[in-house]
This record gives sequence, C-alpha cells and structure tokens, in this order.
Amino acid sequence: MSDLTHSTAAELAAKIHAGEVSSVEVTRAHLDRIGAIDETVHAFLHVDTDGALAAAQRVDDDVAAGRPVASPLAGVPLALKDVFATEGIPTTCGSKILENWIPPYDSTVARKLRDAGVVVLGKTNMDEFAMGSSTENSAYGVTRNPWDLDRIPGGSGGGSSASLAAFQAPLAIGTDTGGSIRQPASVTGTVGVKPTYGGVSRYGLVAFSSSLDQGGPCARTVLDAALLHEVIGGHDPLDSTSIDAPVPPVVAAAREGAAGDLRGLRVGVVREFTGEWYQDGVIAAFDQAVEALRGLGAEVVEVSCPHFDYALPAYYLIAPSECSSNLARFDAMRYGLRVGDENGNSAEQVMALTREAGFGAEVKRRVMVGTYALSSGYYDAYYGQAQKVRTLISRDFERAFGDVDVLVSPTTPTTAFRIGERVDDPVAMYRADLCTIPANLAGTPAMSVPAGLSDDDGLPVGLQVMAPALQEQRMYKVAAAYEAARDKAWGGPLINRVPELEVAAR
Ligand code: GLN
Repeated sequence: MSDLTHSTAAELAAKIHAGEVSSVEVTRAHLDRIGAIDETVHAFLHVDTDGALAAAQRVDDDVAAGRPVASPLAGVPLALKDVFATEGIPTTCGSKILENWIPPYDSTVARKLRDAGVVVLGKTNMDEFAMGSSTENSAYGVTRNPWDLDRIPGGSGGGSSASLAAFQAPLAIGTDTGGSIRQPASVTGTVGVKPTYGGVSRYGLVAFSSSLDQGGPCARTVLDAALLHEVIGGHDPLDSTSIDAPVPPVVAAAREGAAGDLRGLRVGVVREFTGEWYQDGVIAAFDQAVEALRGLGAEVVEVSCPHFDYALPAYYLIAPSECSSNLARFDAMRYGLRVGDENGNSAEQVMALTREAGFGAEVKRRVMVGTYALSSGYYDAYYGQAQKVRTLISRDFERAFGDVDVLVSPTTPTTAFRIGERVDDPVAMYRADLCTIPANLAGTPAMSVPAGLSDDDGLPVGLQVMAPALQEQRMYKVAAAYEAARDKAWGGPLINRVPELEVAAR
C-alpha cells in the first residue's frame, strides 16, 4: 500500500505545495497503480500519461520557483468522466458512435481543472451517454467494483467511482442527471456531490438530458469533494443555464462540520423512501446514520414528500424525451462513426445504418421512448404530465425546506448488485435511482456520503443529504460532521476496508 495513492487530496496538496513531495512523484504513483490494476478494475477508457506528467511538472516548477500555486488542488491527480470534451484527448461517452472522436476544444470543467493545476490522469468508463446505473451499458466493457469484483461500481459514472475506491485517483469528476454521481458513490463507499443545477458549467459536457444534467465532484472525503467543488463551480458565460452567483462556501462548511456540532440544525427524514425495494441492511445502516446525526445534536423529524413516489416515472419520460432530441446530432455527418457511405447509399440510409451500428440497446430504447413521448397527440399525456409532476416535486421540496434545513435518505435502495443481475430488467435497473431523482427534477443539490457497511452483505451504504438550491454548504457541513463521527465509530476511514487488489504481474 502506497502512502501517495492512499492519501487524501488535501494531504497530497499540502505536501506538494510545501515541496515535501513532487506532483510528478504523486502522479507517477497513481499512473503506476492504474497500470498495475486497471486490467482488473477497468475504470479508465484512456490514460493520458504524457499530459498528466507535463501538468504535474508545471506545478512542480511553480513550487520550485516559489511562485504561488494555481489553486488549493494544484498538483493533485484526478480522473475525468469521459463525457467531458477534452481538447486533443479522446472523448467517447462510452459509445461506439464516438469511437476515436478527438474534441477540438475543452469543456469548461476540463479547462478549469487545467487552469487550477489539477492533473488529469485520463478519462473514465461510463454507461453509454450516461444512461444506466451500472456502467454495463458502456460499449467498452464493464467496470468492476473494488469492494467485490463481481459487482457493479454503480452508474453511469462507475469508472470515476471505481477509480477512487481502487486508489487510482484521489479525485474524480462525474455527472448526475438522475443519480450518476451519487449512486456510484454510494455503492463504492465514496463521496459524490450533485451541485445545484447550473452550479457547474455544462459547456462541453455532452448532453443527455439538458434540463437535468449536472457535473460535480467525487472524492474519498467530504473535504476533498468540497475543495474540488470550488475549483469547478461558478458562473460560465458559455452556458446559458449557468447560475450567475458565487459558489456556496463549501470548503468552509466542510471544515466547520468536521468539528462535529450539529446543534440547532433540523434534519428531515423523507418518509417516502422506504418499502419493498429497500434492502434491510441499507435501511439499518441508514437508521444508524440518523441516530449518529441525533448524537451530534441535530433535531431529527420525519417529513412527507408525497409526490416523490412519482419522480421515477416522470424522470423516465423527461430524460428520454430530451435525449431523443439531443442525440439527433449523432447523424454520421459531424462526429465519429460513419457506416455505409461507400455503397451509394443516401444520406438518410447512412444516418440510419450508423445509428443502428453506433448506439447500444439502452440508448436506442430511450430514443424510441422519448420520440414517442414527444410525438403529436401524446405530448400532453406523457411529456406534459411529467412536467407537471416535476413542479409538484419542487413544491414538496419547498414545503419540506420550510420546516427543516436538510433532508436525508438512503442514496440508493440496495448495495452494489452483481454484474449481469439487472441487464435484462430495465425497470429493476431504473429503481437504483428511486431516491436520487427528485433532486434532479427540482434542480436542488444533493450528495452521498458513506454510511458504513450493510450487515447483510458487508458492502457500502450511502447516506444522501439534500439541501435547498444554492445551499450546498448545509449538506457539506452535515456530511462532514457525520463522516467524522462515523470514522470515530468505525475506528478509521471506511474506505480503508476495501480489499487490497491483486496487483497484476507486469
Ligand atoms: N441511472 C439514471 C439513468 O439511467 C441516471 C443517469 C445519470 O444520472 N446520468 O438515466
């Protein structure tokens, strides 16, 4: 076990900036670990060895010359979900249709990371176009959960979450349209944050469902997630939905929370998030987490958000509708794959052949569902209805936040399921998002923090903390306080219980 790969981002940054260790050494340690174990985990689709070492060298040069470093995370390695455009570096979105596509520009998130001196190690595996809950919908093979290699690492950002749990990177970036940051965090025992919609620029983030998509930070600790949140957040004139307001003070909140005092804080337990789909061990771990919050001085009350029961069906109309429109751009003319243009086929035939060959089954299913839901005569019955449900869910949140400061729930109803277990049952797959989707529909922030291990299978459980729009500092404070109490109760960070992976002979 290497100290460098098993440190937090905050620890690494402090050492790099003090000149105690170089960013190049830290970066090499992570690249070596990726080289040694990624054949097993398969978190990465592309590793940018040269780019990472060059970025690390620039930070080391700053430190050596006594210049101020570019940001509090300068020199720290990170794994980037392959849905963000990166200039000169392949960006596939886990799809064959974008195989070998090399973007001519950087997404705002990628640019901010570079400007901050964060070392991007490479691009991580994901469900195709971020549609899925297991990373099994990637066209490039499954990613394995480091806690149990026969299980899924969550999705769609399973590569990012697995890279953290496998100590291949201390930081990662995900995107969360219906839960793709939080659910992978939950099942890998890591931290994942979906910011307020518009809090992190979507410029250069390949669109799935534009009214829901949101990039956010992933890490092994709450403080690390907060540090990354402040690097990637903030207004971007290139994204018309980006919020023109300062990033909430999440780093200060995480530090304050670590002191472990939640007196005066009101926590609402969402009554609707329980029932037949919830694993006993998940509910038990969640109940213990709520007790821990009480122990920290929080006042805990039960609240009802009755329309949350309709969130899943509403999401599975809205997200496919928007995706059917967004994915029309993959037309064989502008990006990536082109099939059948050598046989005198018409442009229309080339488009059809390319989309047939380039999209996987889940993407096709969603394009068809969405096209149907938007078609004339059905619009009011499906898409229109779903939009009304969305309003009701926002009102549930508003009412609840009139009474409490934050809401809590399990992040996802079960622990990591087995690879293959749900591939033939789309609805069972969709149920992984039961607790995460309401925050996407309302545009409010939410995060997952590890809440111990389930006593029925020994796998990680996530505590979801939700806050009102632009009040991220509340959930960071609660999560940091809980994390400190949990580490005390478990005698150390939970993530250190990940079984050590067999390092492949090289
Ligand atoms: N699992 C959800 C879906 O399949 C959420 C995906 C996401 O957040 N990108 O749509």
